[in-house]
Amino acid sequence: MNIFSRRGFLQLLGGAGAASLAANTSCMANPQQKRGLGIALVGLGSYAGGQLAPALQETKHCYLAGIVTGTPSKEKTWANRYDIPAKNIYNYSNFDNIKNNPDIDIVYVVLPISMHKEFTIRAAQAGKHVICEKPMAMNAAECDEMIAACKQANKMLSIGYRLHFEPYNQEMMRLGQQKVYGKPLTIDCANGFTYGGDPNAWRLKKALAGGGGLMDMGVYAIQGARYVTGEEPAYVTAREEKTRPGFFKEVDETIYFELEFPSGCIAKGQSSYNKNLNHLSVKAERGEYELSQAYRYGGQEGRTPEGRMRFPHINQQAAQMDDFALCISQNKPTRVPGEEGKRDMKVIDAIYRSIASGKKEQV
Ligand code: NAD
Repeated sequence: MNIFSRRGFLQLLGGAGAASLAANTSCMANPQQKRGLGIALVGLGSYAGGQLAPALQETKHCYLAGIVTGTPSKEKTWANRYDIPAKNIYNYSNFDNIKNNPDIDIVYVVLPISMHKEFTIRAAQAGKHVICEKPMAMNAAECDEMIAACKQANKMLSIGYRLHFEPYNQEMMRLGQQKVYGKPLTIDCANGFTYGGDPNAWRLKKALAGGGGLMDMGVYAIQGARYVTGEEPAYVTAREEKTRPGFFKEVDETIYFELEFPSGCIAKGQSSYNKNLNHLSVKAERGEYELSQAYRYGGQEGRTPEGRMRFPHINQQAAQMDDFALCISQNKPTRVPGEEGKRDMKVIDAIYRSIASGKKEQV
């Protein structure tokens, strides 16, 4: 269950938060205990139900204090399962009243992408710190509005980039940014899965998802190239391929993109809703290193010129949320702020521009 498996994805595409709750009964014996800061999850779908709520049973510095849902039937299921008091349960209309609730310190937005901006801004205006899921927004301009609203409210904004807390990906950051095997020369990064789910899901609707495989999966590959080099790409060239145009009517299926970094490193990337892809490979001046299962919830495998990487596999979501809670209570910056989400959105915007123009585009 802890892997981004096809089965997990089928659940996810079915909007099966309730189903994944029913399937995972281990938390029921552990009533919610207050630990550190209170988090309210907004949007109780597959990721909130399958990963975040279970992770919040393992966190040390934050806990699941509240929920915000547009589906009344989920209120009771979640309240019973996670011992959430009625006063900490909101819907999308009365959500702004959360400002009067001292139990809630952090609002975690886990909604379709078109709703990220609205709920991030409303949460900040209600005086709450915010975690917003990836990709941060529909485009970089929306990111600016979200960042500005959080700054104005003097609240911290973080993006759900769990891999910044994952030891194998952290090692890739170290090897690349510290040039342990010399300068990275080329990067091969790809993330995708074969989409077989509900043809009416929000992920296939441009107005709700902003795009397809690039927004949902490709953002991890872009992140990978960026955190290996520690640089921002200057130029992007991209092209799109559709083998099932009838299914992917509104959003991209497969995109090939090339990122040119100021150091000269070139990243060749791929995002797909039609292929199973999951790797981050680097060719540096003095050796090659790579991850397979790079972006999953667990099970990363890594190799360097020295041999296999050996790191513990951790609960990425628990580590991510605990870190943010500590950043707030210790008044430290988060390593994955809104600005980091915006950098990826700028690359994504440039990739879509390049597909439209057929030319190289500046990021
Ligand atoms: P999901 O479809 O399972 O859940 C979406 C939730 O939003 C549901 O509870 C649904 O009821 C609610 N919702 C509200 N308005 C809606 C509307 N108009 N249409 C559809 N649903 C609506 O999706 P998910 O997989 O949980 O994804 C939610 C967010 O989490 C997305 O931003 C996604 O990219 C992100 N996510 C992140 C990771 C990660 O590893 N960080 C993994 C999966 C999903």
